[in-house]
Amino acid sequence: AAQIIMVASGKGGTGKSTVSVLLGSRLAAAGKKVLLIELDSGLRSVDIIAGAAGRTVYDISDVLCGRCDWRKAIVESPVYKGLSLISAPYERGNVQPQQLAKLTRKMAKHYDFILVDTAAGLGAPFAAAMVVSQMALLVLTPDPVALRDGHIAADVLYEGGFTNVRLVVNRVGPSTFDKGAVADLDECIDTVAVQLIGVIPESAALLKSTAAGEALPENTLAWRAFDNLARRILGQQ
Ligand code: ADP
Repeated sequence: AAQIIMVASGKGGTGKSTVSVLLGSRLAAAGKKVLLIELDSGLRSVDIIAGAAGRTVYDISDVLCGRCDWRKAIVESPVYKGLSLISAPYERGNVQPQQLAKLTRKMAKHYDFILVDTAAGLGAPFAAAMVVSQMALLVLTPDPVALRDGHIAADVLYEGGFTNVRLVVNRVGPSTFDKGAVADLDECIDTVAVQLIGVIPESAALLKSTAAGEALPENTLAWRAFDNLARRILGQQ
């Protein structure tokens, strides 16, 4: 059965969707069957990042409400081979944990990994993803707001009995060092006991390729970081 991994953050815009798609692409490249579910209600971005903009007919709310079979909602990424996607609706929907659990139980037989890209914050998508996932990746950027909100998200996960939480620090670049955020990040490993599993650099190539819906070039530092992240996750299985 699939390992279900939720990709969460406290603050919005830390790169959750970007990390979900690129991690998914590297797991798929390793020969794994990967489904990425975007649970971010009211915002849709994984289709663009995965080069599949305009291909979505049915979204995750159609599936959860029983308007269509889950298989009909799947779109294959044209740029990342082996990565399947189900997009979020444009309109804010309600995600019931029990509905999601029932759905992922059915899906789990068909995949090695199901990645759940949750909405920012601690609302219904976060709560529902917590119920179905075995692992949580907390995506933070090295700035005080993202760190604080990430702490809060980690606390909610731990209070919910979730133990398998890992930290991905995204957009690490020269300005990170100017701001002294490295020290904050280092201490975050103690305060919330979140183990670091990946560091993704600030990358103009990533920004450009995701905006254009193209594959991230392999000769980039960001590509290497995602490949490493995927390898570490595969190593934990
Ligand atoms: P979220 O899903 O957390 O809202 P996104 O994945 O949509 O965040 O990313 C927010 C913005 O930041 C996007 O424009 C994305 O291209 C950019 N971005 C994310 N990660 C990086 C990175 N490592 N380097 C450069 N830009 C990035």
